[in-house]
Amino acid sequence: MTTSTPLEVELRDALVSLKLQNPGLGIAKTHALLLASHPSWAVSEKRVRKILQSQGLILHEAPVAPSGSGTLTVYPSSRIIPNFDVNKWTPKAKVQYFNQKKGKGLVATEDIAEGEIMWKEDPFILAPEWEIFDMQVASTACGFCSTPLDISSPLTISCPASAASSSHCSIRFCNRLCLARSSRHHPLLCHAANPASIPILKWARETQWLALHALVQCTSRILLAIQHGRLEEDWKIVRGFAELGLEERFKYSFKSGGHPEPDRAAWSKAHALYLQAFSEPPNAVEKRKLSRILKKPLDSKLAGELFDYEAGFLKGLGRMSLNLEAHGGLYTLHSHLNHSCSPNVSVRHLDQRTALSRITIIAKGPIKAGEELLVTYVNPEMHFKTRRRELEAWGFGICECQRCVAEAKNYKEDESVEPGIHAGLESELKAGLGVI
Ligand SMILES: [Zn+2]
Ligand SMILES: [Zn+2]
Ligand SMILES: [Zn+2]
Repeated sequence: MTTSTPLEVELRDALVSLKLQNPGLGIAKTHALLLASHPSWAVSEKRVRKILQSQGLILHEAPVAPSGSGTLTVYPSSRIIPNFDVNKWTPKAKVQYFNQKKGKGLVATEDIAEGEIMWKEDPFILAPEWEIFDMQVASTACGFCSTPLDISSPLTISCPASAASSSHCSIRFCNRLCLARSSRHHPLLCHAANPASIPILKWARETQWLALHALVQCTSRILLAIQHGRLEEDWKIVRGFAELGLEERFKYSFKSGGHPEPDRAAWSKAHALYLQAFSEPPNAVEKRKLSRILKKPLDSKLAGELFDYEAGFLKGLGRMSLNLEAHGGLYTLHSHLNHSCSPNVSVRHLDQRTALSRITIIAKGPIKAGEELLVTYVNPEMHFKTRRRELEAWGFGICECQRCVAEAKNYKEDESVEPGIHAGLESELKAGLGVI
């Protein structure tokens, strides 16, 4: 039989799929399996090792993950949300599943003109930037939509739980509509209704840990959905968000670009406060208050998926980190958008006076029907090496977008001084990738 040397990209795809199916295999066995499944290929073990290393598929010796974390998720995994109706937001896009590595994405269903608004979307949950959070706590921004409040307006309304309780909740809302909508997550995070949640909110604020705050909001929404009979609807959305557990990121030395991540000690402490807030308040008064909100029981499977340290809590943090929009919201449709360093859509917060947390998705240029809609996850003004490094650190692999491929081709080592990060971050940056 004649043998041939596979292209780098062919070899890489084959190895990634082998490792996904056989995560426990070492280099020699992976090499043997590769040759068995591609008998015409001539590939050395050394080349296999090099590619596995470059893809982050070889465990680094140092940190050993605790037992029980047997699954290997090399790339963020994402599920199609069953019966997901994109038309609730727009007829101009549809969901498409590409492959295991890339997962799902959105494609245009019709030709789109430059500057056209594709859709507007309110967040599934909101963990706003800390300055805005501080305003919410100080009653100067809406506790639901985060819009700065016009204090003189007769429409604004305080959290009604305060009046009925000895403890005070400082949250205020734009109007009755925002108050009504806040019933999806606020009661469990209300200082008056559930004081057991005060420590974790305080700690998320102190450590500026946005993903933790987002997870707290999300869990609150799920637990309340059970009470209101909306669990199925909300839970399938949460499960549809791309995920990559913190343990997995840790194992493969994934780091967020430039930011130190909270360490294991911080995760454990956060987990303890998280349990305290939603399931095991420390004293009888707080227990009674929590049980007044959570009247319906939680089934044990869901309890595990929310509260188990690895399968619930760490996984949840990873989900939040991967999907947060730059200003700290988790948006159902927006979270389907994949990355390109030359994105064709842009995310804006246009309704700043009426609904600050609402995003508007706009075409940056003409888009043809069938073309994938892409946002950028990293600052597009950065050098391609820096962009690739940040994306790789997040487990997205080496960015092979057209722009990166072209820039890599023209790149000469002798001009290797990387320009620094420009001061003005483009606002389409999906900065939520950082855990903090
Ligand atoms: Zn509002
Ligand atoms: Zn309240
Ligand atoms: Zn790229």
